[in-house]
Amino acid sequence: MTELFERILSNYKASTAETFTRHPIGILLRQDLPEAIRSVIAENNRYKVKGSAGATNWAEVPWVAIFDIIVTVGAKNGYYPVFLFREDMAGFYLSLNQGVTSIKEQYPQTARERLVQSASDFRSRISEFPVGFVDSPIAILKGRRGDRLGGWYELGNVISKFYPADNLPDEQTIIGDILAILKVYAQLVYGDNLSNLNDQPEFDEDAGWEYENLQRFRMHKRFERNATLVAKVKGTQGYMCAVCGFDFEEQYGRIGHQFIEAHHLVPFGSLVGQNVRLDPRSDFAVLCSNCHRMAHRLDDPGDIGALRALLKQVRKKA
Ligand SMILES: [Zn+2]
Ligand SMILES: [Zn+2]
Repeated sequence: MTELFERILSNYKASTAETFTRHPIGILLRQDLPEAIRSVIAENNRYKVKGSAGATNWAEVPWVAIFDIIVTVGAKNGYYPVFLFREDMAGFYLSLNQGVTSIKEQYPQTARERLVQSASDFRSRISEFPVGFVDSPIAILKGRRGDRLGGWYELGNVISKFYPADNLPDEQTIIGDILAILKVYAQLVYGDNLSNLNDQPEFDEDAGWEYENLQRFRMHKRFERNATLVAKVKGTQGYMCAVCGFDFEEQYGRIGHQFIEAHHLVPFGSLVGQNVRLDPRSDFAVLCSNCHRMAHRLDDPGDIGALRALLKQVRKKA
């Protein structure tokens, strides 16, 4: 595989002066490299490997991507690991990145901000970066970005590893890196499905919300979904609902083991700017799913004392 990367790096620029159709470097990117990558992935029918040197003419930035068909089957949507060659061919990245087409369509005015935000969301959900991977920005293009695809990939980068042309990795390293990034990818995909299920009912609250409040609500949910943070909250506060005392394991047995939701107590109004408080001991409460939903219907969702009082009042009447 190292040899294939080497051939692309040293021949791509010269090739772009030649006829695109049936060019061996194009075939290398569309067929040979994807095939080599496919051969090291175990679950071959779940992952689709695709490479491109451009659709009808040479692309500025050739790429080879691995799509989990649960997430996407093409580069335009979803998120996926992708080998991206720098425009100057000084090296290439293996980057966990995002498709931009649907984001551009959905948010024509704020697509860039959305992409950067979701890159940071993904980052916060990765429990551990694989060895050699970093979250610093990637540089694919030279000069003005404009609407060029390479510029979008720079914004969409979640984590990446760079391989300089003058110090290419050996076969085992590349294979190890592919497998490592696929592991992260799978974690995100499974986490995704779970959190989407949890979110669905909650987002019926979106309906009459002002844009500002909706933004804050989403920010609130992001904190509550941050795996590292939530683990700390549970670690310090345990698994019993702080409002009603519900214990999932007591009620449901094994499947309820260590299940509880973390609720961020800091008032929505202060969730602006960078001064966000995130102390797992004082800025969160652990709540059962019912109490969590009800807490969000309070005038001040951070005031779980009020919820406790309501519950007490109603129970007294009964
Ligand atoms: Zn409860
Ligand atoms: Zn909450």
